[in-house]
This record gives sequence, C-alpha cells and structure tokens, in this order.
Amino acid sequence: MLTIINSIELSTEYLNKKGVESPRINAEILLAHVLDCKRLELYLKFDQPLKENEKNKYRELIKRRGLREPLQYIIGKVEFYGLDFIVNSKVLIPRPETEILVEEIINQYDKNQALCILDIGTGSGNIAITLAKNFSNSMITSLDINNDAVELAKENAKLNNLNGRLIFENVDFNDYNLRDSQKFDIIVSNPPYISQKDYKNLEKELVEHEPKNALTDEGDGYTFYHLISKKAPNLLKNNGKLYFEMGQGQANKISKVMSDNGFKNIKMVNDYSGIQRIAIGEVV
Ligand code: GLN
Repeated sequence: MLTIINSIELSTEYLNKKGVESPRINAEILLAHVLDCKRLELYLKFDQPLKENEKNKYRELIKRRGLREPLQYIIGKVEFYGLDFIVNSKVLIPRPETEILVEEIINQYDKNQALCILDIGTGSGNIAITLAKNFSNSMITSLDINNDAVELAKENAKLNNLNGRLIFENVDFNDYNLRDSQKFDIIVSNPPYISQKDYKNLEKELVEHEPKNALTDEGDGYTFYHLISKKAPNLLKNNGKLYFEMGQGQANKISKVMSDNGFKNIKMVNDYSGIQRIAIGEVV
C-alpha cells in the first residue's frame, strides 16, 4: 500500500537524483495537483493510501518533472501579479521579475486614465492582461510573432474576464504599423534578452522546454532593444514612455541604446536581488 507520505518521499528521492531543485516541494505540488487539493492539505492525510488511478497519474507527472519539464507547464497554470494564467510550452513562463515591470507602470499612472498601451512579445499575455485589469479605461494592443502565443493570450484574456479592451495581433514587430494613426502612451516589452553564448549554459528546464525565441535573440542579447528603441519614438505620443525588462549587466548598454534613439529621463529600477532589471525612457 502506497500512502501519501510514502509516495512523496519516493518521488522526492527520484526528482533529487534527476537534478531537480527543491525536489520535495515539487513532489508535493504535483501530488496536490493530482489529488486536486492544496499542498498543505496533504499534511492532514499523510497516511491515506493512493488509489490506483491517482498513483498512475502521479507517476506520469513525476516522470515528466524528472525529464526537467517545468512545473508550470505540467500543471498548466501560473499566478502572475495575483492573476491566473494558463501556460504551455509555446510561451515563456511568466517570471516574478516581470511583476516589477508591471508594478512600475501601475504605480506611475492614475488608475482611471484612458491609456493606450502597446505590449511587444506578449507570450501568455501576462503583461497586457495585468495592465488591462489595473487600468480599467485602457486600450491595449499586444503583439507576438508566434500565433500559438496569440491564441493562448486570447484565452487568458477570457479567463480574466477581459474582452473588448485588448487587441491581439500575430505580427513581427518589424512589420508592425499603427492602426488609424493612434499613438501610444506606453510601450512595454520583456524581449528575448539572453545572448546566444549565455543561452547554452541555461538550465535544462529553459533550454529543453521553453520556446527558444522567447528567451534568446541568438545574437548579443541586444537585438530587440535596438529594434524597439528605434521604432518606438514614432509610435509614442509626446511624453510617451518606453518600459523594458532586461538581463543582469545590460543596463548601461541599454541606457545608451535608448538615449541614442532620443529617449530622455532614462531610469533603471532594481529587482528584489538588487539587479538593475527595468529600464524606462521618455520621448519629449
Ligand atoms: N511578455 C511575456 C512575459 O513577459 C513573454 C515575454 C517573452 O516571450 N520574451 O513573460
């Protein structure tokens, strides 16, 4: 008879051998997912046996995690800025750092402002949808080169009861043109900023499972900062702002790229580890 505690312990050992970080928590989260309960509720029923179908399902999920598939893809959802998002291997898993990007924007504008926002490389739609939720009079355009991402982002908009204020377009930003000459107050992007060189050294969860073109530009990591900073001034209203997420050590160069393209009042914001993570610039 395999009880809840036995199966957690066996799975923890297995995931540990496979090099999974925090194997016990992973084992617990996956079992809670199979049993459709909260992780902490497992502690109240440690001695309960698992049913045959639960055992099989759990074994299958543990095997996937052992192959280093990210937990979020296995469970199929993630929480971002207090909202739920569906995720799959076609989109980048939303990261806590990106919450800082969103929070900067939320703190800098009045909640009731009728902002026009452009989100470049929307992925799961996490940035666009969170901003739409927090600015109830905003209009948001979200672009992604990958149509699977656009479809998922639309689904996430529905999940979060948003319709009407979000436009999703399956387009390469290179080819993007303004609709009805309507310029934006804000352009935001968390572009693929990992260089080709650093990409090779990322952990398996990222390299083998997340979409490559969401993580790396397959160049020096700055391709999209150049591209977006160059095109953004024509898409922004006077006093419009550009918000970027960036990688560790990229702040100086990105600041230069932005100022070379005419951005003023460039400001950097640190993440919780003290890494310069967000770059903000204004067209005046
Ligand atoms: N906008 C999404 C996010 O910030 C996807 C970004 C990407 O794919 N590079 O998580």
